Amino acid sequence: MAFESLTERLQSAMSKLRRKGKVSASDVKEMMREIRLALLEADVNFKVVKDFVKRVSDRAVGVEVLESLTPAQQIVKIVNEELTATLGSDVVALNKAPKIPTIVMMVGLQGAGKTTFTGKLANYLKKNEQARPLMIAGDVYRPAAIDQLKVLGQQLDVPVFDMGTEVSPVTIVEKGLEQARANKNDLVLIDTAGRLHIDDLLMNELKEIKELANPNDILLVVDAMTGQDAVNVAESFNEQLDITGVVVTKLDGDTRGGAALSIRAVTGKPIKFVGSGEKLTDLEIFYPDRMASRILGMGDMLTLIEKAQQDYDEKKAEELAQKMKENSFDFNDFIEQLEQVMNMGPLEDLVKMIPGMSGVPGLDNVKMDPKDIERKKAMVFSMTPAERENPELLNPSRRRRLAAGSGNSVVEVNRMIKQFNEAKKMMHQMSKGNMNIPGMDQMF
Ligand code: GDP
Repeated sequence: MAFESLTERLQSAMSKLRRKGKVSASDVKEMMREIRLALLEADVNFKVVKDFVKRVSDRAVGVEVLESLTPAQQIVKIVNEELTATLGSDVVALNKAPKIPTIVMMVGLQGAGKTTFTGKLANYLKKNEQARPLMIAGDVYRPAAIDQLKVLGQQLDVPVFDMGTEVSPVTIVEKGLEQARANKNDLVLIDTAGRLHIDDLLMNELKEIKELANPNDILLVVDAMTGQDAVNVAESFNEQLDITGVVVTKLDGDTRGGAALSIRAVTGKPIKFVGSGEKLTDLEIFYPDRMASRILGMGDMLTLIEKAQQDYDEKKAEELAQKMKENSFDFNDFIEQLEQVMNMGPLEDLVKMIPGMSGVPGLDNVKMDPKDIERKKAMVFSMTPAERENPELLNPSRRRRLAAGSGNSVVEVNRMIKQFNEAKKMMHQMSKGNMNIPGMDQMF
């Protein structure tokens, strides 16, 4: 997960102030020195760091002891606010065309994740805004790109317009737009070619497409893993094409995160989306404030909740809530939950989004082992339907049968049933409004 070591270092810099009743100028200076180093090591652009440090220092010196907040809490608040400002403060949505279709053009270097993002965006807008997109395959230099987009189109049931690799991208876009207008698609997503490096030929071609299509958005897709290079790429693309927004991909990797932190300040253009994985659903709207609190290790409950909502079937979630209330959660639900959790991605990443959890020792051991889940599933599948619905039926002889049937020991079966009972108890408590999350109160 991105930002891991930055979060650790920022927390350690700020934690030293925690017990102070009054914060002196030299305390602030010392903390800012550490924050500055932490940001530079995370590969944040040096001008951005300088500016950030100045803004925080100016505000932090001489903070008064307020009744509601300790000086340390106030400084955390200032750091959080200034980090949010560096990331762009407001969420910037996609531009909408006054009359259909809205046209979005993707640009960026090869491998940045343009084609993948085109699919993700089609999926997102189709699901959330009932859009009827057409994707145009304009990347004629990487033949696989066209096939890749077609496969995505099939998966998403979204039409893809292509003319192979022998026609110029400008013509492809022209014809694609004609088709979109004829078919009344309300959204057109243009995937363009990338190169390994920026060159004039590429830029000229992109400018021609821009002129022809007059897109509502030109989104530059950059790979977070490339650090400062991503920032330089963004500067050049912006100079040449006057982009309207940035998409930072691969923030799920163990990038130091500097690119995401610098791009807005360097280019003045907003980050609109973040790619957080290879799956089509691994797309997040970029919320500067949430990202800032995630970086500071203050968690990101809102993203967590949205992610859960996206991956969860709402009706099922309602049924589950009802069952939690009635305490009638059974083994069928247990299996379903295990599968949902598996679909949501690595558990340790999810747990870190809970406020106060990112610094908890031992968190990296919270791994959900797919084999373990398969084992648990095998045990549940060895149960009769009656046993799944009424876990109380599972007496010692039935447990022995389950063990034999699923190829596990009785000890393992007992452990699984114990876990199930604990989960059931916890969920029942949560459904009664007892949402105390350990560690939450220790945040400051
Ligand atoms: P393009 O050349 O810009 O069209 O790049 P692609 O869309 O083909 O992506 C290049 C590689 O990056 C592919 O293997 C993608 O699966 C991968 N990729 C794209 N976005 C993400 C992301 O957000 N996270 C991760 N981990 N991989 C990504």
